[in-house]
Amino acid sequence: LVLPLSSVFNAVGLIQRGMGAYQRIEQALDLPVEPTHPGHPQVRARTCEAPPQAPSHEEPALALRDLTFGYEPGRPVLSGVTFPVPHRSQTALVGRSGAGKSTVFALVARFYEPDSGVLLFDGRPATELTRAECRERIAVVDQNTHVVHGTLRDNITYAAPDASDAEVRRVIELAQLDDVVRRLPGGLAGLLGDRGNTLSGGERQRVALARALLARPGLLLLDEPTSHLDAINETALTTVMKDVARECALLVIAHRLSTVQHADQIVVLDDGRATARGGHEELLAGSSLYRELAAGQMLPGRRPRVNP
Ligand code: ADP
Ligand code: MG
Repeated sequence: LVLPLSSVFNAVGLIQRGMGAYQRIEQALDLPVEPTHPGHPQVRARTCEAPPQAPSHEEPALALRDLTFGYEPGRPVLSGVTFPVPHRSQTALVGRSGAGKSTVFALVARFYEPDSGVLLFDGRPATELTRAECRERIAVVDQNTHVVHGTLRDNITYAAPDASDAEVRRVIELAQLDDVVRRLPGGLAGLLGDRGNTLSGGERQRVALARALLARPGLLLLDEPTSHLDAINETALTTVMKDVARECALLVIAHRLSTVQHADQIVVLDDGRATARGGHEELLAGSSLYRELAAGQMLPGRRPRVNP
């Protein structure tokens, strides 16, 4: 009697899990559909096979022009934010927590529409493009990077399973993952995830970067990890950013000023306003907030005395 009964209990468990999954699918299907822009029905975006227009390279990959936005009416989170993100260069966004850095990303990915001002992709107003067309141009690597149970190769290619070995090698090199491949038992075929090898936070983010780079985005949005990075991972990330910026436009939210000292331009966001823009030395001289942020982070040359 025990065996048939245990089968019945197993079946009941399975059905319950199935019901739970079904409910979650229903919830996802019930999510509101993003409003389409007049003249750009979403159907068009889905069926349009034409490749995205080649960037003109005269206009920046992205430009924010006088953007104002608030999650609630009357409480602006961004006020009159203006800056370009040129092709093949690195733009860093710095500011205190709550300054609006992640909100800039949310607007660029068009999860929200600005209250006023314009977002331009290669000189074209975002409102003339569908959300899908905007998102085709960008890749986002945020702080919530995760690895799935599978091989390192699976983790890099899960959004593009048909990627060629040459493409995979290209992004591994670009994301400074060669050492990880060498270290992992099994290399690219080494298992990661729950019962596989573990990666450090910095390595996980570079796996996410490699995954994003496989799509050859025109614009890469990177939210640097806030957690502590050891010196090796920090150097690796700095090198990756420099190399990536040779291929596309890179907009990075920097939590460590040391990794963006060499950025082509740094935008200082203070309580929703872009109060200063320039190179590291320029901002040290001209922005009191930047000096404050730098002093808090013990950057070379401005190392505050730490009492033992
Ligand atoms: P940062 O990334 O610079 O730390 P955020 O862009 O996350 O700043 O947040 C800017 C401000 O917007 C904060 O005051 C935050 O509380 C608020 N905020 C962020 N996301 C939301 C949201 N989804 N709804 C309402 N307020 C939000
Ligand atoms: Mg943030």
